[in-house]
Amino acid sequence: TINRTQPEYSGAVKKALDRAPQLYINGEWVDSTGDATIDVEDPSTGKVISKVVEATDKDVDRAVAAARTAFDDRRWRDMPPVAREKIMHKIADLILANAEELAELEAIDVGKPKGMAAAVDVPGAAAHFTYMAGWAGKIGGETQAPYSMPGGMMFAYTLKEPVGVCAQIVPWNFPLLMACLKIAPALAAGCTTVLKPAEQTSLTALRLADLIHEAGVPAGVVNIITGYGHTGGDRMVKHPDVDKVAFTGSTEIGKLINRNATETLKHVTLELGGKSPVVVMPDVDVAETAPGVAGAIFFNSGQVCVAGSRLYAHKSVFDKVVEGMAETKDFWAPRPSLDPDAHMGPVVSSEQFDRVMGYIDAGKRDGASVVMGGDSPGGDGYYVNPTILTDVNPQMSVVREEIFGPVVVAQRFEDLDEVVKDANNTQYGLAAGVWTKDASAAHRIASRLQAGTVWVNCHAMIDPALPFGGYKESGVGHEQGRLGLEAYLETKSVMMKL
Ligand code: NAD
Repeated sequence: TINRTQPEYSGAVKKALDRAPQLYINGEWVDSTGDATIDVEDPSTGKVISKVVEATDKDVDRAVAAARTAFDDRRWRDMPPVAREKIMHKIADLILANAEELAELEAIDVGKPKGMAAAVDVPGAAAHFTYMAGWAGKIGGETQAPYSMPGGMMFAYTLKEPVGVCAQIVPWNFPLLMACLKIAPALAAGCTTVLKPAEQTSLTALRLADLIHEAGVPAGVVNIITGYGHTGGDRMVKHPDVDKVAFTGSTEIGKLINRNATETLKHVTLELGGKSPVVVMPDVDVAETAPGVAGAIFFNSGQVCVAGSRLYAHKSVFDKVVEGMAETKDFWAPRPSLDPDAHMGPVVSSEQFDRVMGYIDAGKRDGASVVMGGDSPGGDGYYVNPTILTDVNPQMSVVREEIFGPVVVAQRFEDLDEVVKDANNTQYGLAAGVWTKDASAAHRIASRLQAGTVWVNCHAMIDPALPFGGYKESGVGHEQGRLGLEAYLETKSVMMKL
């Protein structure tokens, strides 16, 4: 049996937890105008470990006003691009210099294993600043050679300008990584921003504010506030002084935010939910593929927007692939996030626990067979055992809906047309996976899957240089890469009569 006692927190983390709940606005730590706070829980124990501010409307207004002033007086966009680039590299360096503390904070806030946070979240967060820093000095429009029009000779060019004040709202599954993914392109473009982490997981975004400050980002350019979505987040989205909304979260809230932001015709980018298919072709090496497709769903307790939650294995390898996945049971057995042996932790909260267990129960009621897991190990904390369901059909909620937990539904297929059709039979289109040694099958399937990202023989690999976005109800617009930068830019045409 596994000992699920959470090891003791380090001194640095205890210090961070003891900080008075404050907001980072206009380059300063300030008290809220109200006195409401939100409890911070360690999902490995279910215990309250700290408190953060529940931002009021006045707090949001103050943060937006700071970002507005910082944008309008051009203190950031008019800095020499190389100076902005240098500051962004400094942020990346400071993230890496504080990697140990950030990984531990993320582990106790989200429930993810500290080793995972140290290997994935923290270096990934820094990489977004490093990549986008490179763009700061490379943003430019186009120049036309002078040409004649009926009115005379014309000279024309385009300017790429920062879109303005951004409201950035992120979810709880990769809090630091998502915050950096949002802030980095805004800074590269010359924008100013107000960022709100999810109410469940604010700790690393608050520490990031310290690092952004230390790196020398001028006051008001980045403001970080904590609070609930339906109050503070809603105010950010509707605020008349906000020019762009960048949101990552559920499709349901994304639709609501899109409607609200459209009232004032703000620019909007949305990164939403998924129910990503993973197709396993008959030619695979099962010994390599089974652990790979298990990792595609169990990584981060399945709380990954691109989680490979629908497995389609060719009937000739189906049983062996599912068996091979079931052999990873001990590897993925949930443990406290600071246990050095942990590969999977608890899910983030009691609400998420109930939601995931509710789906598992619905799957059982609908007639699915449980090959592995299907339950919780019990005790304190929000642990769900990694779960494989078979004997499912496309009408079941476990097949149709995003569970956002360590639950995969496995189905057999016979031919390629059929599996592509089934894989695409969803409202979502965020990502997909294909496992095969047959290169032409891989490319053929990749071109036919309705998904913003397709991985072949791997899963959830993220590169800040590659655009990331959803088809269908998985999103609008892109983040990362050149397209991710463009989402923070306006284009202006200038014409001059010579
Ligand atoms: P959520 O939509 O409930 O919340 C996300 C954020 O939105 C939080 O910060 C929340 O406070 C805020 N929010 C909630 N209501 C709001 C409102 N009315 N106005 C403004 N802000 C509001 O999502 P969640 O449960 O935190 O995260 C899980 C979801 O996020 C999953 O659906 C997952 O697929 C998705 N996700 C998508 C991506 C992606 O890149 N596509 C990445 C990670 C997670």
